Amino acid sequence: MTRVRFLILLGMLKYKTKLILLLFSLSTNCFSACLEGERANDIDKLSELAQSLSDNVNGQFFSKSKILVDIKCAGKYGEKDFVKTIDNSIEQGIRCLNKLGTSRSRDHGAKIRKYKTRRNNPLKITCSDESTNWSTLQANAFASVAEGDTLKASKNQILKHPYISLDPTQNWSLDLQKLKKTFFHEIMHTLGYKHGRDVEYSFACADCCISPEKGEAVYYSASKSYEDRRVKACKICKGDYSGISDRQYIEDMIDWKSGQIDEKNGRRTLLELFRLSPNDKWGKTRLITFLKSRAPKLAEELSNSKTESKLAQTIFALMENDRTKAAKRLAEVIEDDITDPYSKGFVKDLKKELRVELIFSSPAPTYQDQPSIMDMLGR
Ligand SMILES: [Zn+2]
Repeated sequence: MTRVRFLILLGMLKYKTKLILLLFSLSTNCFSACLEGERANDIDKLSELAQSLSDNVNGQFFSKSKILVDIKCAGKYGEKDFVKTIDNSIEQGIRCLNKLGTSRSRDHGAKIRKYKTRRNNPLKITCSDESTNWSTLQANAFASVAEGDTLKASKNQILKHPYISLDPTQNWSLDLQKLKKTFFHEIMHTLGYKHGRDVEYSFACADCCISPEKGEAVYYSASKSYEDRRVKACKICKGDYSGISDRQYIEDMIDWKSGQIDEKNGRRTLLELFRLSPNDKWGKTRLITFLKSRAPKLAEELSNSKTESKLAQTIFALMENDRTKAAKRLAEVIEDDITDPYSKGFVKDLKKELRVELIFSSPAPTYQDQPSIMDMLGR
C-alpha cells in the first residue's frame, strides 16, 4: 500500500467504511477488479484498519474476539492483560457450553458466538459508567438483558444492548481471574437472564465454565469439594428447566448451593424455595426439612401458618411473591431477638438479596422508584 493511499484512507475516517472503500477503489482505477483476489484481501484489511481507527476515534476498539472495548478499560487496567482476559473468557465460555452438549447449552454457545460476527451491533464493554450508583447496586458489574436496554455511560457513550458495564472504581487488573469470571457471568445475562426471575445460568455457567478465582481455588481444593461443586453448577448450566419453579431445578439448586462449606451461599438456596407458592405442599415441606437441622426454631415457626414471627411472615410473603410485603415484614424483624446464628446470618443475607432483587426485577432504575423499601432495608 502506498503512503498516498493510506493518507486518503485516514482522511476519510469520518465517512462510512463503504464510502472509504469506494474512494480507495477509484483512486487505484480498478473499481471492480480490486474486489477480487489478493487486492480484495488488501481492501478487507484496510477496511478493518479504517474501522478500528475510526472506532478508536470514538473511544472504543475491537478485541480479537470482536468485543467492542471502551478505551478506558484498556487504559486504566493495562490493555494487553485486560483485553486478553475478556477474549479468553468468551472463547473458553463458548467452548465449554458446546462441550456440555445439551440443546440448551449449545444454543447459548451459538448465541454468544454470534456476537462476534455482528459488527454493526457487537457486544460492548464499558469502564466509563458514571451514571450508575454502584454502592446502591451492590454489584461491581451489570449487563443489558434485552433489546431496547440502553446505557448512557458518559457524555459521548450511549450503549445499546448487548453491553456490559464494569464498576470504573474497581481495579480489575488486580485479579484477572475474577474479571474473567465476572465477564462471562455478565455475558450470560445478555442472553436475557435476570437473577431471581430466571434460571440462574449466570452464576452456574460462570462456575461451571470458567476456571476458579485464586481464593476460591485454594479454598475449595483444600476441601476437595471444588470439583464436586463445579459438576453441580454444570448440571444447572446445561439444564433445560420449565422455569424457576421447576422442582428439578430447585432440587439441583439446593444440591449445588447447600452442599457448600460457605453457609452464606447455602442460605441463598432458600431464596429458590421461596419462589414456590405457600399452597405448594411440596415446597413448604421441602423448606421446613431444609431448615430443621440448620434453624430448628424457624422451621417450627414455619409449620404454623398463623405464626407471630416476623421472619416467618417474611418468608410467607416471599412465597406469595410479594416482595414489597416481604421487605416490610423483614424491616420489622428485630435482629437481636434471633438467637441461632443461621437465622441471624440469613436475615442479613435476605436484606441484601431482596434489595438486589428489587433493583433487578423490573426495568432500571427501580430502586429510585422504591425509596421507602430501600430505606427500610438499609441502603
Ligand atoms: Zn449477575
